[in-house]
Amino acid sequence: MIEIQKALELITENCRTMPKIELPVHECLGYVCAEDLYAKLDMPPFDKSSMDGYAFKWQDSKIEYINDGIIAAGDSFDEPIEEGHCIAIMTGAPLPFGADTVIPVEITEKAGDKIRFTYPAKKCANVSYKAEDIKKDALIFPKGKIIRTQDIALIVASGYSKVKVSSLPEIAILNTGSEIIEPGEPLDYGQIYNSNGTMLSIMAQNIGINAEYLGIAADDEKSLKTMLSIGLKSDILLISGGVSMGEFDLVPKVLLDLGVKQIFHKVRIKPGKPVFFGKTDKCLVFGLPGNPLSNFVGFELFVKTAVRKMTGSEIVLPVFSEGIISSQFKHRADRKNFYPAAHKNNDGKIIVTPVISHGSADISSLSKSNCFMIADIDKLEYSPGDKIQFLEV
Ligand code: AMP
Ligand code: MG
Repeated sequence: MIEIQKALELITENCRTMPKIELPVHECLGYVCAEDLYAKLDMPPFDKSSMDGYAFKWQDSKIEYINDGIIAAGDSFDEPIEEGHCIAIMTGAPLPFGADTVIPVEITEKAGDKIRFTYPAKKCANVSYKAEDIKKDALIFPKGKIIRTQDIALIVASGYSKVKVSSLPEIAILNTGSEIIEPGEPLDYGQIYNSNGTMLSIMAQNIGINAEYLGIAADDEKSLKTMLSIGLKSDILLISGGVSMGEFDLVPKVLLDLGVKQIFHKVRIKPGKPVFFGKTDKCLVFGLPGNPLSNFVGFELFVKTAVRKMTGSEIVLPVFSEGIISSQFKHRADRKNFYPAAHKNNDGKIIVTPVISHGSADISSLSKSNCFMIADIDKLEYSPGDKIQFLEV
């Protein structure tokens, strides 16, 4: 049995890098950017008005200017503006040559061919200057960052219509267990629904991957062999169940028979101790113990780490946060204990409250949680106010 740090290290050492692809920007959401992006132009690209109003060359205490015309956004005004004159200008239109100030229309009134200010104008007000936001050639988005919704506009405005990103690995999901039944089917005594199948598919979707769902294999070598060999054609094969110590936990044996090289089997964590990790030339294989919390924690810790490494993400390892535990918590685990909990921010203090859980099959405790707090092997009792690490989920 190995420690979690060692397991994460072995995973990252055994990941290959996914090929880069070029995608239209509107398809890039959630992908890891595979190139440093530099602004192809200044932003704004020209001095422009930030208000609907009148552009003019500012003169101290002068409040009446002769109106010479109008510039709409997208237009330009070729003549330099004369002192004492103004031009109606719309938001986003280029400032005419010679003007330095825009007064908003709301604080002006028309007086024949003149515009009178009802409130004094401040010099240089309401102008967005060329390059004041971003200078041409400045780094706007670094390689290794995940492209989020709020980054898209910046990338487009900086002159990009396509971006090089890391392609995402294919994931195949196989559930195992002769007692597991697909949702919607009637249940006989002793059977349970395949909640892991849907959960793992959604967890993959949350990191941008439409996983291939292979179905349920029965706990027999023939069924496992057939379905595992299909799964091994993928970049990542996720298996739920069948990796523990039971008579019918045949997944590791069948994987080895199929030529998978075992890298580890068992990590000193709770839940999820019997997790199996192996690989072929193409495929990384994660065998996650069938209990839903073991599946969930295994995906969060191990599978996500592998995907981040494969896609060149700047952050590879899971990020643990620190909070303060709100209630007494005792555990007997001889393993790092990932316990379902709820964290919230109370006036800047992060308070972590353990959720009542009956163990790694207790799906209701998973649904009540928004993190897993991490109780250490060398601290079996936590008192209110003690610091505790947690993994946000
Ligand atoms: P196993 O790892 O195969 O020994 O399974 C451990 C526990 O998880 C058993 O109680 C299984 O019934 C349960 N389990 C296994 N697979 C699933 C699944 N796909 N969905 C929900 N529970 C499961
Ligand atoms: Mg099983």
